[in-house]
Formats: sequence, C-alpha cells, structure tokens
Amino acid sequence: MKTSALPAHKIIPAGHLKNLRYAIRDIEEAADTLAAQGKRIIRLNIGDPLKSDFCTPPHIVDAVVKAMRDGKNGYAPSQGIPQALDAIRHEADRKSIQNVQDTFITEGVSEGIEVSLSALLNPGENILLPRPEYPCYSAVMRKINAQPFLYDLEEDQGWEPNVDQIEKQINSSTRAIVVINPNNPTGSTCSLQTLERIVELARKHGLVLISDEIYDKLSLETEERTLSIASLAPDLPTVTLNGLSKSYLVPGWRLGWVTVSGEKENLKHYTDTMHKLLRTRLSANHAEQYAIPAALNGSQLHLVEMRRKLRSRRDLVLRKLRNVPGLDLKPPRAAFYAFPRIQIAGEDKTFALKLLRDTGVLVVPGSGFGEKEYTNHFRLVYLSDEEQLEEALEKTKKFIEMGYERGDIRVD
Ligand code: PLP
Repeated sequence: MKTSALPAHKIIPAGHLKNLRYAIRDIEEAADTLAAQGKRIIRLNIGDPLKSDFCTPPHIVDAVVKAMRDGKNGYAPSQGIPQALDAIRHEADRKSIQNVQDTFITEGVSEGIEVSLSALLNPGENILLPRPEYPCYSAVMRKINAQPFLYDLEEDQGWEPNVDQIEKQINSSTRAIVVINPNNPTGSTCSLQTLERIVELARKHGLVLISDEIYDKLSLETEERTLSIASLAPDLPTVTLNGLSKSYLVPGWRLGWVTVSGEKENLKHYTDTMHKLLRTRLSANHAEQYAIPAALNGSQLHLVEMRRKLRSRRDLVLRKLRNVPGLDLKPPRAAFYAFPRIQIAGEDKTFALKLLRDTGVLVVPGSGFGEKEYTNHFRLVYLSDEEQLEEALEKTKKFIEMGYERGDIRVD
C-alpha cells in the first residue's frame, strides 16, 4: 500500500506577538557575535549586579541551602510558604502600607506584573504606563491583547511623571495607572507631590494603582527608602510589586512578591482571579522562598555597602560624561541606571550598534524603552567595577567627541 507522506509545512506563530521586543537582551546578540570573533566587550546593558563585584549575602544563601537539605524540594503552596508571607507582611508594615488584603510570592517581579495585569484586564482595555518604560509591561499587554497608553516622564523636570498627560488619556476602558518608583531606565524617583496627584486621579476615576518598587532600597540620595504610593492611599486598590533580585542580589533565583492593599470588598474578585492564575502555574521556586524571611528580617548591612559603591559609580558617570558634546544627563537618584540624551543624526539604535562595533561598549538604545519623538538616548548600567566603568566611559566619551569632530554624529 502506498503511504503519502504529509508535506512538511512551516509552523506559523501567533501573529499578535510579531513585534514583541526586549531591547535589553536583543542587543546582546550583536555583542555575542563580536565577542565570538575575539572582540573585548564591556557590557553595560544588563541590570544584574552579580555580573560585577556584588555578592549575595551569605546568610541568604545559607537559608536556601538549609531548606534544600531539609527536603523543601517539592512544590510549594501556590501562594507561597507561610514564613515568607509573614516576612512580606512585616515589610508592608515597615513601608506603612495599611489595609493589606493579600500577599503572594511570584517568580520575580516579572511574574507579579504578568499576574496582576492578566487578572485585571479584558482585551481592549488599557492602563497608563510610564515612557520611557520598563519593557516587561507592554510585553504582557501585548500577550493579553490589552492596550498600553503611555505617559511621559519629563526629562527637563528630572523625569517626573506628567500627571496632566495621565489624566487626559483616561477613558472608560482605563483600569490602572502604573508607577515605577524608583525608575528603570531613568534612575529617577517620584516626588511626594506627584505621587499624591496620581493617587487623586486613581480615586477620581476608580482605577487600580500598580506600583513597581523593586529599587526601593537603592535610593542614592539618602539612607531612607523611597516612599510607597500605597502608604498614601490605604482606601485605594493598590498592587505593590517587589522582589529580591536587585537589593538582595539574587536575580537568578526568580523571587518576587505582590502586596495587595485597599478596601477588602473592592478587591475580593480581583485577588480571587490572581489566585486562580497562581494555581495554574503550581508554585514559585520552593527552597528559594526561604531566602525571603532571611533577607527581609536579617542583616541589612550589605545594602549600606551596595549604596556606597553605587553612589561612587554614579558620581563617576556624572564626572566622565560632563561636557561631552551633544550629551545631557539628568543625575540619577536611585538604582544603577543612567539615561543620557544624545543629539545625533539618525536613530539611537544605529548609534548603540556603532558604539559597540567601534569600542566594544554595550549599552541599550533609548528606543528600546520608548522615548519622546525626536529624542535619542541610551541606557547605561553603572554596576561594573570602577576600573571597567571608567574605561567604558572614556571610550564612549572619545567615540562621541570624535564623531562630532568628523561631523558624522551631529545633527546639522
Ligand atoms: N521591574 C523593574 C522596574 C525592573 O527594572 C525589573 C528588572 O530589571 C523587573 C521589574 C524584573 O525583576 P525580577 O528579576 O524580579 O523579575
């Protein structure tokens, strides 16, 4: 009997993900190709402190190793282990977040973003997101077929959110306002006045506040932590996102958490839906969750040292990039990102690729985060040790100066 083989056919992927991008990692492909050809690359593109001279505090590692040895290697409860949930509630108290109705543990803040947006939005509904933005938010919006409406962080006001622009865009399909404070990619923090205005808008229009505070312990201006917007609005439905990746130096463990606060009766259906989603993915990493009480309730000394190093590296960036032609940098106040504006002919993606090819310095083009029309930027991560950072900054400075001299960078 003759069997007819099925013709091989190409598998067509989901169309709505066609334009999905994650510039922070996408640009690495070009760097990896050059590295494979033997070029030395200085990577200032990724916010991973473990890639330079920062180390995980040993007491946090010990807690996880002990959990593994004690056999905590099965699935965890979908919500998270009770000891970690307790520590997160204490943390909410320390941040003066009242009316906490729910907490749960996620695979990094990334999963917290996915769960809180997926449980909230129907296709076609929208939320307000800061621009420049942290790209995970619009990636999730794309997946769930909801619409990101962007409001600007105003560069000439130290990257403060433009609250008037938020209000102008709110319509009957708007569900939430997202605040990222301190901010990636700008390294800025929101003023109390701005946060209060955002709270008023959310109250007036019945919106959820979603506050990403993953850098809250990395303020470089004072020893104090950044103010939590939830603490200003105990009555409003607020989702506060946080995690261990940055401040506790364990990005690879994928640990985050969500704290939901506000009036109980307004939140019940929303949190029930979040829990349904959490159950579908079984649980977050089990043994690693033991790091959460160890981190939040244990010694915080490493943070003092971390902020000292970051302050000194931030100052180095400011010194080296001062007086570079066509470059303007609003001083970062927190985290480890600088987002200088550059006057160039053409796109910042071309600039970043040329900088990479000519000097081996890898930065992320501003367009990867979205930026105002007719502006160009790049994001530089200043986690590298001072020697490497100084070398990278010197090369970047020379690259721009020479480009200006030759006239192939300046817009004229
Ligand atoms: N939110 C912001 C603002 C970030 O900058 C990052 C990572 O860079 C994340 C969330 C993701 O963090 P996690 O490692 O906890 O998933």
